[in-house]
Amino acid sequence: MPEKVDVLVVGAGPGGSIAAKTAAEKGLKTIFFERGAQPGDKAASGCGLPPRMWREFDFMKDLDIPSYKIKYQALHLLDDTLGERFSMRWSPSDLGEYPEAREYFQVNVYRPGFDRFLAKLAVNAGAELRTSTLIENVLKDDAGKIIGVVTDKGEKIEGKVTIAADGATSKIACQAGLRKKWRPDEITLVVDCDFSAPEARINEIIGPEEYSNHVYVSPLYPATYVAMMPGGFHVGFGQWLDRYKSASALSPYEYLQNVIQSKPLQQFIQKLHATPREFHAHLLPWLSHVPENTFGDGILLVGDAAGFPCPLEAEGINYAMISGRFAAQTAAEAIAAGNTSATGLQPYEAKWQASTIGEEFTTPKEWVDLWAGIFFDPPQWNKLTPIANNLMFWASWSAPHIRNFKRELANYGENLPFLLEFAKTYLVPLMKKAGVPLGRTMLKVAWKWLKTKKKTSPTGVTGGMRK
Ligand SMILES: Cc1cc2nc3c(=O)[nH]c(=O)nc-3n(C[C@H](O)[C@H](O)[C@H](O)COP(=O)(O)OP(=O)(O)OC[C@H]3O[C@@H](n4cnc5c(N)ncnc54)[C@H](O)[C@@H]3O)c2cc1C
Repeated sequence: MPEKVDVLVVGAGPGGSIAAKTAAEKGLKTIFFERGAQPGDKAASGCGLPPRMWREFDFMKDLDIPSYKIKYQALHLLDDTLGERFSMRWSPSDLGEYPEAREYFQVNVYRPGFDRFLAKLAVNAGAELRTSTLIENVLKDDAGKIIGVVTDKGEKIEGKVTIAADGATSKIACQAGLRKKWRPDEITLVVDCDFSAPEARINEIIGPEEYSNHVYVSPLYPATYVAMMPGGFHVGFGQWLDRYKSASALSPYEYLQNVIQSKPLQQFIQKLHATPREFHAHLLPWLSHVPENTFGDGILLVGDAAGFPCPLEAEGINYAMISGRFAAQTAAEAIAAGNTSATGLQPYEAKWQASTIGEEFTTPKEWVDLWAGIFFDPPQWNKLTPIANNLMFWASWSAPHIRNFKRELANYGENLPFLLEFAKTYLVPLMKKAGVPLGRTMLKVAWKWLKTKKKTSPTGVTGGMRK
């Protein structure tokens, strides 16, 4: 007789552990399976967690693993000699909706510690964790309803609801017939290198108030992040699979070589006495459409398995956790109502659509087009980097300032068609789809400005302008 429980969760990543924790808290007999010897063993090693996670999940206040609060972000523009031409750095804005958002951008942690922290919460809530267990297949009844899973040891375990939290490739989603493999334009390959650096050196050279995330762009590789982590940092970039195949693209390895050889990165590595520790290549879904088929007869998909990473930057951990919680809540309601078929599990879709996940997918195509067309399109930076670098030319001491100012304006005039085309291609569709009343807002602002009679400086300080 096969073993029978209420809820089976495949995967002990952030989505799976929160699903298992929530199901167990609802009194459901729950097993969650992890193919790794421990949760987090198979994850990309470092990540950033958003401040809102501390508001959405009360247990985050108990997070007890080493972490860095990121107080600065920076963008660096490099040319085709891999030298830095322009950079800017910013701190959390006072537009942030709540105090933590105005204090830091992210909390950076290593995934093994984080995944184990979440899995322990699920175990403490009463879920059973089975590690070193690969789920090889799903069990179906005669009508095709998912009624359980089969492990790599051949065990058959039945569950009233199966939650697939098995990440980007999600064998379970495909076996359940909810979708085929992601198309090459729906999934990215993220290549990254983890560097270790002595903690004492990081604190001597940088210090907690300056922990930062950096983005480097150049004509020689797609936008690359450098994220500072406790005792090291992570260097990585991603690209959609179909774009790696384009004629002008280099291989992931060649891109990574360019990144690591770039002057700013070499300086960073040398300054921190850093050494490469681990190399990873992971798949990450990045959809330009709203996720589809996230539930079926006896089954729910969460996190990467469902395609939930946000369409702008593929931030996925928070959404995996939110969807894991919704999935377990829906499973509990369906089990209580005695209907775990697709109709009983359908409320899951309404739940995530009404949440921040649904909100992120208001403009999926427009976000993806913007990211793909700018940050993941290296040749664009042959043009964009000089345009940005000319921004301060008026202040140059190379000639009288007014002459430089006029030269700069003329240069921007020449580039205007390119910049307008850029705005037309990427910004206008985004604003239209998001419902930003662009024309009306601009007219209102212009009208207000025209009505201002008093001559003041733009900062509002009268006398700022000389008569
Ligand atoms: C390099 C990289 C950096 C990233 N950085 C960030 C970041 O900074 N912030 C952020 O929010 N997001 C980031 N993401 C995205 C984020 O990692 C994912 O969105 C998130 O991990 C999804 O969680 P999940 O629980 O759905 O899946 P996963 O975290 O992938 O967990 C799936 C789990 O299931 C297990 N598993 C898989 N198949 C089976 C099976 N058949 N049987 C048993 N177990 C199985 C796996 O071993 C794994 O533990 C990054 C992604 C990558 C690749």
